[in-house]
Amino acid sequence: MSITRRKLLASSLLAAAFNPLGKTLAAGADVAHSSAPWRNWSGYLQSNPAQRFAPKSEQELADFMKGNAGGVRPVGAGHSFSPLVPTNDALVVLDNLSGVVAYDDASTTAVLRAGTRLSDSGPMLDQIGQAMINLPDIDRQTIGGAIATSTHGTGLGLGSLSAYVTSVRLVTPEGRVIDANRNDNPEIYQAARTNLGALGVLTEVGFQNRKPFKLKSMAWVEKTNTVIESFAERCLEYEHYEFMPFLHADFSLVIAHKETDGALKPPVPEEDQGDIFGVLSNLPVFARRPVINFLVEAIEPSEAVEASYLALTNIRNDRFNEMEYSVAVEDGLACVREILDTVTKLGIDALIPLEYRVIEKDDSWLSMFSGSAKASISIHRMAGYDYKPYFDVIEPIFWKYGGRPHWGKVHSLGYHELSNLYPHLDDFIEVQTELDPSGKMLNQHIAKILNRNV
Ligand SMILES: Cc1cc2nc3c(=O)[nH]c(=O)nc-3n(C[C@H](O)[C@H](O)[C@H](O)COP(=O)(O)OP(=O)(O)OC[C@H]3O[C@@H](n4cnc5c(N)ncnc54)[C@H](O)[C@@H]3O)c2cc1C
Repeated sequence: MSITRRKLLASSLLAAAFNPLGKTLAAGADVAHSSAPWRNWSGYLQSNPAQRFAPKSEQELADFMKGNAGGVRPVGAGHSFSPLVPTNDALVVLDNLSGVVAYDDASTTAVLRAGTRLSDSGPMLDQIGQAMINLPDIDRQTIGGAIATSTHGTGLGLGSLSAYVTSVRLVTPEGRVIDANRNDNPEIYQAARTNLGALGVLTEVGFQNRKPFKLKSMAWVEKTNTVIESFAERCLEYEHYEFMPFLHADFSLVIAHKETDGALKPPVPEEDQGDIFGVLSNLPVFARRPVINFLVEAIEPSEAVEASYLALTNIRNDRFNEMEYSVAVEDGLACVREILDTVTKLGIDALIPLEYRVIEKDDSWLSMFSGSAKASISIHRMAGYDYKPYFDVIEPIFWKYGGRPHWGKVHSLGYHELSNLYPHLDDFIEVQTELDPSGKMLNQHIAKILNRNV
């Protein structure tokens, strides 16, 4: 029996039942006034924005921000699991502001409009002889949304997208347009590289890129103990390396990418193996280990060679909710073991594997990787199931290891805890308050993080 990778990562009829939510409303919205509800990708977060504003130019956006006295939340692709976006005031949709603004061959840098989807940026950059240095697991996000939360991929020495931001152009809540980089407005630059959408609306982002490159992608199943023991060594062998330990099982899925000059070899299309997750979720938790071990051992290794932007990203059609924390690299493997043991010991009824990645440090103020390299660990629960009982048990394990929450994923922390984890949180709040004295950009979630009143 052969089982493919995606099927086992996140597939179930229950999740598919959520798919009719489909594209987030933000993605298709360019109506100026609408009372249609907004939902995030997983369908868990909802709000009823009084209007959706989709500017066709930066000037239109600046005029809107200046004239609008009420609350404003920018939205990208709505792929965040934490309530950064929800608002019953105005939603600003950047879909019309997309594409390459400028580029420089000598420094391999390019400026992209903030509404550009990562999926579009790959071919666009390729045409001008550039590629992003690293990418996250999927590519539906917008540039503005991805850097707002320090969205990342994996790889020793490779930072999050925010690490490679060289400049930003920001329309402030009061309608001013500000350019910022390391030399001009350096504090706004450091705040804006991971900004939670709290400083205003970014219209352009400059990136340090590299020349286009190809990656050989490899995925295989291996005993989790072996993967953990060989992790440091394997990170040196593969430029991009991660593993996904199956719950209630002894195996992990390993995903590795190595740079190559070899010929392109497209991935083999996946066959539909039916509702494996549906079947597994009907088994009592205590009976799952032998069944899951049997099934995952049958997963065939796979290999492909593609352009980096295709190799690094996947399509995830089946919806879930996710919590992710980043811990010190030296603590990461102990933390992931403790989570796996806890899931087993408490018989937690969850099926989607964990995800374990490594990310290089950067110096943007609010990046999860600000100041030191980290290992990130994610837990997931299918959309449609209550994730709280599972996430509430695991979150304190992350705290024990001094973990920093991913801004775009579920967490329960507020200013008090976050200010101990992010040494520059108060610097960020100072810049945010200066740019947004009346709190137009705040919703309840952001106000809780920044210790401000809505
Ligand atoms: C299936 C899936 C896979 C994922 N994989 C990864 C992964 O591999 N690595 C990872 O790190 N994360 C991952 N994420 C999380 C995701 O990358 C982040 O939550 C990201 O911020 C979402 O981008 P978005 O364009 O959807 O923005 P949204 O979720 O719409 O918004 C996120 C934040 O950006 C702000 N924002 C959006 N546009 C602008 C703008 N122009 N100016 C200012 N602020 C703006 C919003 O106000 C909000 O605060 C994943 C999410 C999903 C659903």
